[in-house]
Amino acid sequence: MFKLTKAQYDAHVMDTYARFDVDFVRGEGCTLYDAAGKAYLDFASGIGVNSVGYGHPAWVDAVAKQAAALAHVSNLYYTGPGGRLAERLTALSGLETVFFSNSGAEANEGMIKCARKASADTYGDWRHTIVTLRDSFHGRTLTTLAATGQDVFHQRFHPLTEGFIHVPRGDIGALKRLGGDVCAVMLEIVQGEGGVLPCPQEYLQQVAALCAERDWLLCVDEVQTGVGRCGSFFAFQKMGLKPDLVSFAKGIAGGLPFGGFLAGQRAARTLRPGDHATTFGGNPVCCAAALATLDILDPVLGAVDAKGAFIRERILAMNLPAVNEVRGLGLMLGVSVQGAPRVLVQKLLDAGLVCLTAGGDAIRLLPPLVISFDDLERGLAIFEEVVRNAS
Ligand code: PLP
Repeated sequence: MFKLTKAQYDAHVMDTYARFDVDFVRGEGCTLYDAAGKAYLDFASGIGVNSVGYGHPAWVDAVAKQAAALAHVSNLYYTGPGGRLAERLTALSGLETVFFSNSGAEANEGMIKCARKASADTYGDWRHTIVTLRDSFHGRTLTTLAATGQDVFHQRFHPLTEGFIHVPRGDIGALKRLGGDVCAVMLEIVQGEGGVLPCPQEYLQQVAALCAERDWLLCVDEVQTGVGRCGSFFAFQKMGLKPDLVSFAKGIAGGLPFGGFLAGQRAARTLRPGDHATTFGGNPVCCAAALATLDILDPVLGAVDAKGAFIRERILAMNLPAVNEVRGLGLMLGVSVQGAPRVLVQKLLDAGLVCLTAGGDAIRLLPPLVISFDDLERGLAIFEEVVRNAS
């Protein structure tokens, strides 16, 4: 079966992903099963998406019921799940309005448009530059690639959208030296794809203060860090920030493609009819999935930090020669290793533990937020054996 699937991909799917040789057919709780019936414990959540694990009965029920009732009508009309979700997300974030999209890149595109228009409405079109950080990752569309502070992703795709500058993470002086046409700063609280690199809280607060002083919009990309991944609903809340715009995606709908961005008072009413749109955004099935995801996560979020600390302490206590450090926030962790992370991730997969790579030297761990301490313990035992034998 797997051979046929692989042959079909090889023949007909564009070769854009370095896939591992596994054909997953089913998931249950925090365990995935391949076509041969082999079980794998999941420390990856489909890159931070499956925060409620696989096949959660409340999630399945909500999706099935909404699919049966009404799957899609477009944004020309009102639907109940969209209204309920908007109310929940604004309450959870402390922001005022939301725009629904379908992916992280699209969420960031909308956030960028909103930031530029908010500035243009006050100062005119000339004030349009958005500052982002080196090693950041904001998506694969041409504009979010331009925002992404890693040249490796830009090569062969020029010209990118104009009006982005990248400065080093943690260097407040580099930001202060900018002026003139800057309208916004956009950053991740923990750079995920860049290697699970947290921004220091003091730096984030300096950035926020500078944004307030210069009337730059503070835009936080919470596509990977958000929806409980870092221990608070949004990671900015842990850092004591009050951003103007916040994007989210990945974990919001527990496995369906969904995202969006939230705006505070400064930009809440900036976008008007005709300014921005997407056919599927706020699709009732995705909204129902998101509402169920929020319900499931509500009692779970309080334990995310303890689970992250458990992983960190257990790995450090293993005293593995190949491990340099464990970094990150909540259940978004990077284990910096000696040697190629991809080789270790392959070995972990062979041993039945699904993990991720990230930029640089890190094995990235993004387990479902609902994972039990028993499952963590079992996964860490596999981790220890594989990494110890590899060193
Ligand atoms: N922003 C961040 C911080 C991300 O981690 C990602 C994806 O990894 C994106 C944006 C792009 O999201 P998507 O792949 O859903 O377009």
